[in-house]
Amino acid sequence: MINIKTPEQIKKMQIAGRITGEALALAGEMVRPGVTTKQLDDKIRHHIEKCGARPSFLGYGGFPASACISVNDEVIHGIPSGRVLEEGDIVKIDVGAYIGGFHGDSANTFTVGRVSEEAQRLIDVTRESFYRGIAEAGKDGARIGDIGHAVQTYVEENGFSVVKKYVGHGVGHDLHEDPNVPNFGTAGRGPRLCRGMTIAVEPMVNIGAPEVLEKKDKWTVVTRDGSLSAHYEHTIALTENGVLILTKV
Ligand code: MG
Ligand code: MG
Repeated sequence: MINIKTPEQIKKMQIAGRITGEALALAGEMVRPGVTTKQLDDKIRHHIEKCGARPSFLGYGGFPASACISVNDEVIHGIPSGRVLEEGDIVKIDVGAYIGGFHGDSANTFTVGRVSEEAQRLIDVTRESFYRGIAEAGKDGARIGDIGHAVQTYVEENGFSVVKKYVGHGVGHDLHEDPNVPNFGTAGRGPRLCRGMTIAVEPMVNIGAPEVLEKKDKWTVVTRDGSLSAHYEHTIALTENGVLILTKV
C-alpha cells in the first residue's frame, strides 16, 4: 500500500531530509586519500545525533553502522571500517536520518583525489540519470515505469548498465515503503504517481554488466565483473508545486 503524505507530513519530511542531506555533504567534504570509511561514518552519526535525529540505517536489519559506504566495485550496503581511501577511488555514501516520525534517504558518489576519466563519466551519467528520472515524475499522469525507463535509457545510451536487483522505494514513516521504484522499465507502466507520494529515486549504475553479488559479510553488494559502480539518490515528494527534492542542501 502506498502511504500518501499530507502537506504537513511533507514539511516534517523536509526536516528529516535536510539533516540527511547535511550529513551526506559533511562526509563528502571529508573524502580524500588517507581517510577511513569509519571516520566518514562517525561524522555522519555525530551530525545526525547533534540535530536530535537518529541514523535510519543503524541497526536496520542488524546493520552495524550509521551510513552505508561502498568503494569502487562495491555497489551499495558497504560497512564502514578501517579501510583507507586511496587516490583514484570512488566512494558511495548512503545516509538516512529519522526525526519527527519520518525518514530521509540520500546517497552520492565522491571522488578520492584524481580519478580516471571513465570513473568521472560514470559518476556524471549516474547523477544525470536521476534528474532524467525525476523530470518524468513531474509530468501529469506519470507512472513509476516512466522514471525507470528514463533512467535506463539515458544510462544505456552512455554505454553503462543499471543494477536491476536493487531498486528505489517509497519512504516516510518507514525507511522502505511501497512502491518499488526500479531504475529500468517500460514507460506508461506501474503505479500512477500522485500528489503526496514520497519516494527515493536511486540509480545504481555499473561500467560493466548489471549483475551483482553479495559478499560474505552478508551486506556488501559488489559488481559481479568487478567493474566500478556509482550511486545517486534523493528523497523526493510530489507536491502541487511539482517535484520537491527533500534531501538536497
Ligand atoms: Mg539510501
Ligand atoms: Mg534508498
